[in-house]
Amino acid sequence: MSKQTNPEDRNSRRSPAGRSGHDAGVAGDTSHNGAPECRAGSRPDPSRYTQSKKRVISVLRGRGPQTKMNLARLCGLGWATVVKAVQQLSADGVVHVLGTVLDESGDLRSASELYGLRTDGPLALGIDVEYRTTRIVLTNLAGEVLDQKSTLTPRETEREGLFEFFRALIEGFLQQSSSDRTQLAGIGIGIPGIGFPLPSRRASARIARELQADLERVFETSVRIGTNTHSYAVFEKWSSVTFQSGNFIFVSIRTGLGTGIFLDGELYTGMNGLAGEIGHMRLAGNDVPCRCGGHGCVETVVNQHSLLHQYRTHVAPNEDHVGSGGPATDPTVAAQLAELFTRAKRGNPAAGRVVADAGAHLGRALANSIIVLDLTNVLISGHFGPDGDALIPPVRDSIRRYVLPDVEADLRYMPFDPDGHTLGAALQVLKDFFVDIPTVHPQVGAPQ
Ligand SMILES: [Zn+2]
Repeated sequence: MSKQTNPEDRNSRRSPAGRSGHDAGVAGDTSHNGAPECRAGSRPDPSRYTQSKKRVISVLRGRGPQTKMNLARLCGLGWATVVKAVQQLSADGVVHVLGTVLDESGDLRSASELYGLRTDGPLALGIDVEYRTTRIVLTNLAGEVLDQKSTLTPRETEREGLFEFFRALIEGFLQQSSSDRTQLAGIGIGIPGIGFPLPSRRASARIARELQADLERVFETSVRIGTNTHSYAVFEKWSSVTFQSGNFIFVSIRTGLGTGIFLDGELYTGMNGLAGEIGHMRLAGNDVPCRCGGHGCVETVVNQHSLLHQYRTHVAPNEDHVGSGGPATDPTVAAQLAELFTRAKRGNPAAGRVVADAGAHLGRALANSIIVLDLTNVLISGHFGPDGDALIPPVRDSIRRYVLPDVEADLRYMPFDPDGHTLGAALQVLKDFFVDIPTVHPQVGAPQ
């Protein structure tokens, strides 16, 4: 379980195999590093890739650089298939030789070439639009953050104004990062599921579709717009080791509450892209207005601003709370949210009540989801620090109260990776390069 709560894991999650070739005992061959000479000149197209090639890319992303011998074993492929796949991916400019490794004898004649993903392409932009802040990153198949930038989210609600915002943001960022545009595989954008840019979800969905087409035309690349929560769920699927299963529910608690539902390895988004909006189940038992236009939604009591407000009001009323409830990326806000959960875990009664109340509401909404979907792997993430798992016991108690007898959920907590929402948005495009690897070896897909 330490894997689930240790923030030190963040780096290994973001860059799944700590992918510097130099970590792996590379015997100093630098002649191939970053060499553009083997580029085919055209953008790699994953829709043309065989499952074998996608397995090679997925293993290199998850496990870092490998010899062809290891690739064959980890991909569950024959030697000839791996040789062919590596050769073609090298010609496409997707993988390259990082150096050579010697076997235990140290005999140079038995040296094997070590292959890794190129870090200079294919590339993707990931954009996370939160209600206050919009963040953009440039990333690659290895999951590295090559460049990033933050800006204020506009109050704009018209399609033309939003288009201009995204166009200028993307254009300026591409110039700033001086990236090779021919290597841009696409742009992924995560937006709030409800209430952005308009209160009506139907109108917002229409604007998102139109924006997607406009941006594809201008930047001549694939653009995908989904919800922030779906972006992070995709990040979890391809960057985390929390659930090896292709079936899980990811719960996101930020300014809003939503879930991403993975069924058989695929994100289920629903008919309107809004699957998993459990925050808008009207179970809170209050008449507090919600940004969806309803009242009494679970989200009105389970969100980081509500938790922060309760911490300041009930748990630490005598402390000087500088500033108002800003985003959780604000260090003060993040520290106070983390403090709430730490105090709850240490037995502070007031903090315990706040966390228990939120957990009870969340558990009830989750129980309804579990009854419908029969998915019992649940990962909860928030900006709640290392003790955020204090939320798990009240959620579990609540689920037990409402689900069928004998149904037991596997509940886990993981603090948000600070890059998860943006990298996940980019993965909405890059995931086309990856594929799940069938369990042909007990070690496949396991954390290193
Ligand atoms: Zn609502």
